[in-house]
Amino acid sequence: LKPKSLNFLEEIVQEGIASGKYPQGILTRFPPEPNGYLHIGHAKSICLNFGLAQRFGGGTNLRFDDTNPVTEETEYVESIKKDVSWLGFTWAKELYTSDYFEDLYQFAEKLITLSFAYVDDSTAAEIAAQKGTPTTPGTHSPFRNRSVEENLALFRDMRAGKYADGEKVLRAKIDMAHPNMHMRDPLMYRIRHVKHHRSGDKWCIYPMYDFAHGQSDSIEEITHSICTLEFDVHRPLYDWFLDKLGIFPSHQYEFARLNLSHTVMSKRKLLQLVNEKVVNGWDDPRMPTISGLRRRGFTPASIRNFCERIGVAKRDNLIDLSLLEFCIREDLNKSADRVMAVLDPIKLVITNYPADKTEDLQIENNPEAEVITKRSVPFSNELYIERDDFMIDPPKKFFRLGVGLEVRLKGAYIVTCTDFKADAEGNVTEVHAEYIPESKSGQDTSGVSVKGTIHWVSVAHAVAAEVRNFDRLLIVEDASELGDDFLKFINPESLQIVPKVYVEPGLKAAEVGQALQFIRKGYYSLDPDSTSDKLVFNRTVTLKDTWAK
Ligand code: ATP
Ligand code: MG
Ligand code: MG
Repeated sequence: LKPKSLNFLEEIVQEGIASGKYPQGILTRFPPEPNGYLHIGHAKSICLNFGLAQRFGGGTNLRFDDTNPVTEETEYVESIKKDVSWLGFTWAKELYTSDYFEDLYQFAEKLITLSFAYVDDSTAAEIAAQKGTPTTPGTHSPFRNRSVEENLALFRDMRAGKYADGEKVLRAKIDMAHPNMHMRDPLMYRIRHVKHHRSGDKWCIYPMYDFAHGQSDSIEEITHSICTLEFDVHRPLYDWFLDKLGIFPSHQYEFARLNLSHTVMSKRKLLQLVNEKVVNGWDDPRMPTISGLRRRGFTPASIRNFCERIGVAKRDNLIDLSLLEFCIREDLNKSADRVMAVLDPIKLVITNYPADKTEDLQIENNPEAEVITKRSVPFSNELYIERDDFMIDPPKKFFRLGVGLEVRLKGAYIVTCTDFKADAEGNVTEVHAEYIPESKSGQDTSGVSVKGTIHWVSVAHAVAAEVRNFDRLLIVEDASELGDDFLKFINPESLQIVPKVYVEPGLKAAEVGQALQFIRKGYYSLDPDSTSDKLVFNRTVTLKDTWAK
C-alpha cells in the first residue's frame, strides 16, 4: 500500500478486510445511467471505485443502470466504455441492469407473496398526497390491503400489458408514518409502454431506481456499493429490500459528489448546452465531460491525479477549476514537447542574413524530459515573431525588441534591432534586425549576453494554423443554485478563435490529441477538426494561472 493516509472509505474497506469479511476480495461497481456522456464528477466515482479494488484486491464491474427506457441510448453506452478505458481502468464485467429485469420481476413477485408489496391503482397525484409531509404521517392507499392472490394476478397483468401507462403501480408495503419519506410505501414498478434500448418491447413495466439498484448489487455480490451523499436517505430502503428478500447483503456507502467551479455537471444541463448549441457537442473542449477534456488536451493521468488530490469527503464542497488546471499543467510540463508558434505575427527581417539561405537548427524538444531529444527547425532571413515582442518606445526593463535592443531568438542567434516600418496609422508592419553570426545557440562565442529569448517561425517555412483558446464556461463560480438560469451566465469569451497563426513546419506531422507546449504561450493539443490544409490547435491550459482572482 502507498504510504498515505487512508480516506474514510479506504478505512472501511481495510477494516472489513482485516476482520476477514472479504476472503475473495472486494467487488465495487461503477453504475452510470447511459443518458449522457461522462463528466469529471463521474471520473471521481470511477477513480474511487476502481481505485479501491486495485488497492485492496478485487474487481469493479461496469454496470449500465439502464432502467429508464425513455432517456437511454446506445451512443451513450459506447462513449462511456471509451471514457472509462481511456481513464486507464479495466472493468471485471460489463453488465446491464436491464439484463436483470427477469430477476427483478421475480423478486417483486416474492415480495408480493410475502405481503411486502401491493398493486396500487392510485394516480401519481393521489400517491403524492398519501405520502404526507416530513412532519406529518401519510395515509394508506385504499388498495393497500389487496390479497396476495389479487396482487399477483394484477402484477402479472401489468407485465402482460393489460394496462396503460400510469394506470397501476407496484408499491412496497412498509410504513406510511415512517420518519424517512422514502420508506412510505415507495414505488417499485411503473408501467411504460416504451421501447428499451436493449430489451426492446419485451417489457412494459420498469423497476424504479430504488428497487433495481440494490438488487443488482446483490445479484453481482458487490461488497461496497458507493454512491453520492444524496442517496444516504435511500439506504434504509436499500437495506430493507435486501433483508426482506434474504439475498446477498451488499452495503451502500456515500461520499460527497464533486462540484467544480465555473461549470455545470448535471447531465441534463450538459444536454441542454448541447441541444441549444451553446457548445459544439458533448466533446466541446469547454465541456466538463471526459470527452471534452480529452479533446481539450487533458491526459488520463492528470484527471486521475486531480481525483486523488481532491480526496473523498463526507460533506459537499466546491472545487476550484484552477486545481484541475494545475494538475494538467504539472503533467504536461513533464511530457509536452516545446515548439514554436506565433499567434499574433509580425515580420522580422534579418538584414545581414543571406536571403537565399536556410539553416536547419537542432532545437531541444523538452528540457524536463528524462532523455533529451532534438528536432530540426528551419531558420532564414525572414521570420515571424509576436507583435508584442517589439515596441516602438520600449520601457526600461523591456528585454525584447525595440530599436537598439538585443534579444536571443530561441535556439538560433542573438539579433540587434535596427529599424522598423509602420503604415499610415502608425501600426508596425515590419521589424528589422542584424544577427550576430558568432552567437549561434549551443556554440556562442560572441561574448554578448542578453536577458530575453523570444520564439519565431521562418516565414518561408511557416505552416498556417487556427488556434482555439478556451476560458471558463460560466462567469459565476458556483452554479449549483442557479437552476436553468445557468444559461444566462455563459462566459461570452469562453471560446476565442485565432484564425491565422504560424507554427513551425514539423507540426504538420502532429497527431490528434498530441500535447505540445507553444513556448511562452501555453499548452496546446491538435484538434480532430484539423485537415492537411489547416491545422487546428486547442489551448489546453495557459502556462501559468493567469485568472483574475
Ligand atoms: P448527473 O446528475 O450528472 O446526471 P447521475 O448521478 O445521474 O449524474 P449516473 O450516471 O447515475 O449520473 O452516475 C454514475 C455514478 O457516478 C453514480 O454512482 C454517481 O453517484 C456518480 N456521480 C455522478 N456525478 C458525480 C459527481 N459529481 N461526483 C461524484 N460522483 C458522481
Ligand atoms: Mg444516477
Ligand atoms: Mg442523472
